[in-house]
Amino acid sequence: MPAQLIDGNALAKQIRSEAAQRAASLTERGHRPGLAVILVGEDPASQVYVRNKVKACQDNGFHSSLDRYPADLSEAELLARIDALNQDPSIHGILVQLPLPKHIDSHKVLEAIAPEKDVDGFHVANAGALMTGAPGFWPCTPHGCMKMLESIGYDLRGKHAVVIGRSNIVGKPMAMMLLAKSATVTICHSATKDLGALTRQADVVVAAVGKLDLLTADMVKPGAVVIDVGMNRKADGKLAGDVDFDGVKEVAGWITPVPGGVGPMTRAMLLVNTLEAAERAAR
Ligand code: NAD
Repeated sequence: MPAQLIDGNALAKQIRSEAAQRAASLTERGHRPGLAVILVGEDPASQVYVRNKVKACQDNGFHSSLDRYPADLSEAELLARIDALNQDPSIHGILVQLPLPKHIDSHKVLEAIAPEKDVDGFHVANAGALMTGAPGFWPCTPHGCMKMLESIGYDLRGKHAVVIGRSNIVGKPMAMMLLAKSATVTICHSATKDLGALTRQADVVVAAVGKLDLLTADMVKPGAVVIDVGMNRKADGKLAGDVDFDGVKEVAGWITPVPGGVGPMTRAMLLVNTLEAAERAAR
């Protein structure tokens, strides 16, 4: 029997509309939530992501600003801009679009963002908060994946979750969030031997690699939940994930599509984090 679809567009729409209502009530109290987005360089994919994030703000009553800088911007200039935004009371969230040009130390830049405005959740203070179960901002993409699992009422306790990918922005925080819900978590990566042997044991698979058709039907346990974070371009230019959707949907119990899955959830969770930053600032 084919898998049920977890519709990221529909869920994200609902989350955005709740965020818009909360934003409106904060705005009435004189605290309109504000997100500052910084883009350095001309990377085409980054330009699309940044445009979508700013549009999500505009569509839902958030204030937003977009700083676009040439690729030769100095690290010192970028740090100075972040410092100014850290001090700006109309800005509650600061997002520096990654990747940054090579001459800029991205760790240094992410650490320069005030943790209470770090709505991407990449600052070590927020990564540490997630690791230790303290309050903080969770990275938007894995947080969106957790909301998708929540939306189908999935109880992770005692389940085996396999995360493919170990990046700081997706794989590692994803594993921590699943662990916090008492799943038994396996993290796979580029050096993992026999990926399929591990994924076949999984009740939940999260694929976050960036390789077309990495996860095929023979690697999935019947009935498993499959969440596809990957974003790849097919030869015909169309967007696709890491999961061979047509094959895997015949085996899995639940599956997220690409496009229309994790992508819109990521943007919705950015609004939620910005809203929470604004609500905390207004207290
Ligand atoms: P990354 O390049 O930082 O990490 C990729 C990870 O995949 C690494 O940890 C690596 O060890 C692992 N890997 C590489 N080859 C592998 C293999 N053959 N088997 C198992 N693991 C392997 O990428 P990232 O930033 O974590 O992003 C991962 C994917 O998710 C990309 O396609 C990216 O575009 C996408 N992404 C989507 C969203 C969204 O909102 N939908 C957000 C962030 C990232």
